[in-house]
Amino acid sequence: MLYKRSNQLFVEANEVIPGGVNSPVRAFKAVGGTPIFVKEAKGAYLYDEDGNKYIDYINSWGPMILGHAYEPVVSAVIEKAKKGTSFGTPTELETKIAALAVSMVPNIDKIRFVSSGTEACMSAIRLARGFTKREKIIKFSGCYHGHSDSFLIAAGSGASTFGVPNSPGVTAGTAKDTLLAKYNDIDNVKQLFEANKGEIAALIIEPVAGNMGCIPPKKDFLKQLREVCSENGALLVFDEVMTGFRLARGGAQELYQVKADIVCFGKVIGGGLPVGAFAARNEIMNYLSPLGPVYQAGTLSGNPLAMAAGYEMLKALQEDQEIFKRLEDKTAYLEKGIRKVLQDNQVVFTINRVGSMISVHFDANPVYDFETAKNGDNDHFKKFFHDLLAKGIYIAPSAYETWFITDALTYEDLDYTIQVIQEVTAK
Ligand code: PMP
Repeated sequence: MLYKRSNQLFVEANEVIPGGVNSPVRAFKAVGGTPIFVKEAKGAYLYDEDGNKYIDYINSWGPMILGHAYEPVVSAVIEKAKKGTSFGTPTELETKIAALAVSMVPNIDKIRFVSSGTEACMSAIRLARGFTKREKIIKFSGCYHGHSDSFLIAAGSGASTFGVPNSPGVTAGTAKDTLLAKYNDIDNVKQLFEANKGEIAALIIEPVAGNMGCIPPKKDFLKQLREVCSENGALLVFDEVMTGFRLARGGAQELYQVKADIVCFGKVIGGGLPVGAFAARNEIMNYLSPLGPVYQAGTLSGNPLAMAAGYEMLKALQEDQEIFKRLEDKTAYLEKGIRKVLQDNQVVFTINRVGSMISVHFDANPVYDFETAKNGDNDHFKKFFHDLLAKGIYIAPSAYETWFITDALTYEDLDYTIQVIQEVTAK
């Protein structure tokens, strides 16, 4: 494939945008090479500026469950735009989408819309702190909750339970309020609660982790977290930015039958427009301004174009009785096919999958937390990524990312993908 125009555009972008991108992972730093510049997308496919076509396994990092340029979303956005793009006043559509979301997701009475997943998680934590009148939070190593200061924290050294900043610009003061736990390790979580008795406002988790590859929670892990949080008066926050409206209509809460206190959404809920949201029962949500003391706001929150797109998306997921089954079937088919060819080609691998989230790790051992995710053979991944790209298959440009399956994929697309993986991994 030729990438002449993408290469040129990347040079130009680098002149005026740091690293040529508006979000770091897009720069292909983890895999090397030059990012492709996408011109348009339809259904399961991306088309780049050089006219190359790709089967898309990223799907805008999740939201395109029904495929790119999904007609009802596109039409709704066009119609709305003709009537004005932002008012800074309440609109009827905000109530309609809120009511729909509340009807689909368990254990929530009210929802507030923001403009990104970062904002949703950041606001959820402020709300949890305000509600519990406590300051510390627990997050898990390898989970990503957006780029707000409280989440850009790495594990502290040795016996210390305090986190340390993992980006310059995050203060030590902020870091000391974020405690780092190991994913899937309930004893570790209990120790943190024990060492910080009465101080933990919230524990935030990706109920299925999607930012260190796909890592499922071990059996009963989420239930155990629920118990520990309740025993300690801390709120359990599910970051369902990836899992919400994807793993089931009601997200991971429904799939695993575990009640969260606050749930964060992003991506899917905006049908590809910039939207996030956080939601909880009345007692907690009524603590937000203007009803309660916790401040949170946004000029573009509930933006009419974003709400129009999100509403069509959620409506489609609500009405289609078979959608989650179809996604499961397609992804299971892909998993089975990849397993077979990797085994036949004697490649060392582990595949993790929950519903339509799947990741391939080039390591023979189980991958169940950040440490085990780091053991994968990254050089193998880089080669795998570029070999697939050259054959028109676009997976995430980092070994730590999950593939997101869209319903727009056909079984022919899946067969082609499996065949390409057979070819590129043949010895
Ligand atoms: N939470 C999770 C689980 C995510 O995967 C992401 C983004 N990948 C975020 C939060 C942040 O969302 P956004 O990029 O929309 O700010």
